[in-house]
Amino acid sequence: MPFQAPRGTFDILPDEEEIWNKVQQACFETARLFGYRYIETPVFEESGLFQRTVGENTDIVEKEMYSFDDKGGENISLRPENTAGVCRAFIENGLHNTTLPSRLFYYGPMFRYERPQSGRYRQFHQFGIECIGEASPDVDYEVIKIAWDVLKILDFGNVVLNVNSLGDSQDRYLYSEELKKYYSKYLNDLPRVDQLRFERSPLRILDSKEDITIKISEDAPKTLDFISTESSIHHENLILNLDQLSSIDKEFKYKINHRLVRGLDYYNKTVFEYTSDSLGPQGVLLGGGRYDPLIKILGGQDTPAVGFAMGIERAVNELKKNIDIEKNYVDAVLIVTNDDLRIQSAQIANNLRNHKIRTIIAPRKSIKAQMRFANNINSKCAVFIGHDELEANKLSIKLLQEKSEQIDIDLNDISQFKKILSS
Ligand code: ATP
Ligand code: MG
Repeated sequence: MPFQAPRGTFDILPDEEEIWNKVQQACFETARLFGYRYIETPVFEESGLFQRTVGENTDIVEKEMYSFDDKGGENISLRPENTAGVCRAFIENGLHNTTLPSRLFYYGPMFRYERPQSGRYRQFHQFGIECIGEASPDVDYEVIKIAWDVLKILDFGNVVLNVNSLGDSQDRYLYSEELKKYYSKYLNDLPRVDQLRFERSPLRILDSKEDITIKISEDAPKTLDFISTESSIHHENLILNLDQLSSIDKEFKYKINHRLVRGLDYYNKTVFEYTSDSLGPQGVLLGGGRYDPLIKILGGQDTPAVGFAMGIERAVNELKKNIDIEKNYVDAVLIVTNDDLRIQSAQIANNLRNHKIRTIIAPRKSIKAQMRFANNINSKCAVFIGHDELEANKLSIKLLQEKSEQIDIDLNDISQFKKILSS
């Protein structure tokens, strides 16, 4: 075959639509229940937007962005994530002049140049929540709860919320210094990627996926020992909310994960991830946190914010294991017994569709072949159109999934047809 989908991309085929819809619906309905509203931003932005927000030294900006000069010489990147775009839109469209916080959600494709593997693609989808304009831990809890409700609707087993607090930027500076002291003892044992991180962003070593580093990091200093009183109180307040949720919902489990720092520069205070054992090494379903400095970095007013992004493919892959795909997508196939009735059949088909009966006209073939077609596409019924039927102003219906007799119905009484279909 001369052409294939680019590495790390895939096609969503008709059989899969239902699962994708189910996930999207769970996301949209839950977001709306919490008063969140849809926002959509372009799939590409000026590269500088991501460099400034996600961070120059992050994996995403360093290695994973699809960047190019467009024909006007502008450096453009396909969005690797959507928080930066939403914040840009928030400022540009003056949303800070509306009642805050702005409760926003988005859904759409993201692009990262990664090594493709199960649950990791180069074009993938994210659903995300951004709550912009409120500093209190109440909304940290709110976004964590939205995520939990989505995962519950999708019936994910064994999900655990991991939380941590990074404190503010000054806390992070002190903590980074402390981390450097710690890792300097193990510098020769660290793999090359993590040695490089040591100088530039020691926090990122905690995020490493290398086994040796994970082992070494077990005894690393903990962020919570370095954060300010204000950040501590914020964190404790969130924990109170989480404890309350655990006590009323026995399925909800959380743990404080001291190594959780998240791979993007813009987070402060609360960071969190939901992980699921059943996903294996690509176990993170969604991640998020507070990003109070971001709007100001982008030239807006100082505006605190919190949000998360969920990987849709990881949810879809998990659901695929448990769902029987609905094969019935057509109600009626018209079997046209004489070719001179094709034009009339097209009109009958339109009439059925006007009554929301999903209808296909069988191809110009023998009656036997038309019947085979109707069976092969799993139509609920075959509808015979011949001279005799039309003269009597009737349609002759045969239900295909059960061995039924033919039933005649009045051509002018489609409601009778609908009753038969739903019986
Ligand atoms: P990971 O540690 O798995 O690389 P990340 O920290 O890069 O994740 P985020 O940027 O927080 O991920 O994105 C949020 C979610 O988006 C992830 O938890 C994951 O479910 C999904 N995601 C991220 N990258 C990919 C990808 N390349 N393919 C599919 N899903 C992805
Ligand atoms: Mg990543």
